[in-house]
Amino acid sequence: APEGAELRARAEIDLAAVRANVRALRERAPGAALMAVVKADGYGHGAVACARAAVEAGATWLGTATPQEALALRAAGLPADVRIMCWLWTPGGPWRQAIEADVDVSLSGMWALREVIAAARLAGRPARVQLKADTGLGRGGCQPGDDWTELVTEALRAQAEGLLRITGLWSHFACADEPGHPSVAAQLARFREMVAYAETRGVEPEVRHIANSPATLTLPESHFDLVRPGIAMYGVSPSPEIGTPADFGLRPVMTLTAALALVKHVPGGHGVSYGHHYVTPGATTLGLVPLGYADGIPRHASSAGPVLVEGKWRTVAGRVAMDQFVVDLGGDEPGPGAEAVLFGPGDHGEPTAEDWAQAAGTIAYEIVTRIGSRVPRVYV
Ligand code: PLP
Repeated sequence: APEGAELRARAEIDLAAVRANVRALRERAPGAALMAVVKADGYGHGAVACARAAVEAGATWLGTATPQEALALRAAGLPADVRIMCWLWTPGGPWRQAIEADVDVSLSGMWALREVIAAARLAGRPARVQLKADTGLGRGGCQPGDDWTELVTEALRAQAEGLLRITGLWSHFACADEPGHPSVAAQLARFREMVAYAETRGVEPEVRHIANSPATLTLPESHFDLVRPGIAMYGVSPSPEIGTPADFGLRPVMTLTAALALVKHVPGGHGVSYGHHYVTPGATTLGLVPLGYADGIPRHASSAGPVLVEGKWRTVAGRVAMDQFVVDLGGDEPGPGAEAVLFGPGDHGEPTAEDWAQAAGTIAYEIVTRIGSRVPRVYV
C-alpha cells in the first residue's frame, strides 16, 4: 500500500462477481431483458461501477429508486443505449431533467401524470413513462379498477398528443421471497388482468415486468419481458427460505475488512464497551475493530456479530459503538493491524452478510446497503 494509505477498513467489491451474477441471472430468465437494480448506491457496492459491470454482462436496463440516482447514472457516461428507469417520485421532482436525460419515469397516479405532461411540454419532447400497477404489494402503484382505468385513459390521451410514450407496464411483489405464498399467484393474476386491460385500450408497451430477485430465481412465469433483480446481482440471498447464494451459482460481491486498531491484555471480570454488557470471563486479550454503527455495523449485532481474526470466528464483545467495537480474542495476540474480516463470500472461513443479518435480526439487504461512506470501496 502507498505510504499513508488508509488501512482502517475497506469494502472490497468484486466486479467480476457482479458480471458472473448477472450472467447467471440472465440464464435463469433467458427470454427476458435484465434491469440491474442499482439504487441506494448499488446496494452499498457503488452504483456506477456495478452498473458498468452489469452492462458488460448483458444488462440492458438500469433501475433506481430516485430520479436523482437515475440522473447521476446518465451523467456517468454509460453507453447511451442503456435504458434507465426510476420509480420513486414526489411532487416537484426533476421530470424535465429526466425527460432530457432519456430516463424512463414511473407513474403511480394522476398527480404524476399531470407533472410529467407539464414537463414534456417545457422540454419539447415526449416523456418515456411506465405505468405502475399495485397488484397487491400495497405500496406504490395505481390501484386496480377506476384508478387504473383513469391513468391508462389519460396517459393514452397524452400519448396521442405526442407528449409521452407508454414504454412499460409494471408491478412489484410483496412475498416472492416466501416460496408458495398465496399472494404471489394472486399478484400475477392481477398483473395479467391490468396489463390486458391496458393493451385492450391500445397500450403497446416495450416491456412488462414484475420480477425482483427471488422471482427471477424461482418463478419463471413471472419473467414477462424483463426481470429486475437487485440483491441477487450482489451475490446475496433474498431470504434464507429461497436458499443460499451458492444454490443459484451466485457469488457475494462485497468483502468487509478492518485492521485491528489495538490488541491488549485485560484481566477477568473486565467490563467491555458502553454499558458493560460483556464482562471478560477470565484473563484474555481484546481486539479493537475500528468500525461502528456510523459505518453501518448494526448496533443490534452487539454481543452477536461474527468476525474472522487469524482463522477463528470471534464475536462482538458488548455494544457496537459509533466508530468501533471490541472482540474477545481469547488470549491470542495478533499484532495491531491484523485483519478482521466481518463478512465476505464465506469460502475462506469468513462470515457472510447473511450471518450478520441473522446476528442483528435483520435482512442481508440492510447489512450491505448501510455500509457507510466512511468505508472506502476498493474495486478488485
Ligand atoms: N424493483 C423494485 C421496484 C424495487 O424496489 C426493488 C428493490 O427493492 C427491486 C426491483 C429489486 O429487488 P431485489 O433486491 O429483491 O431483487
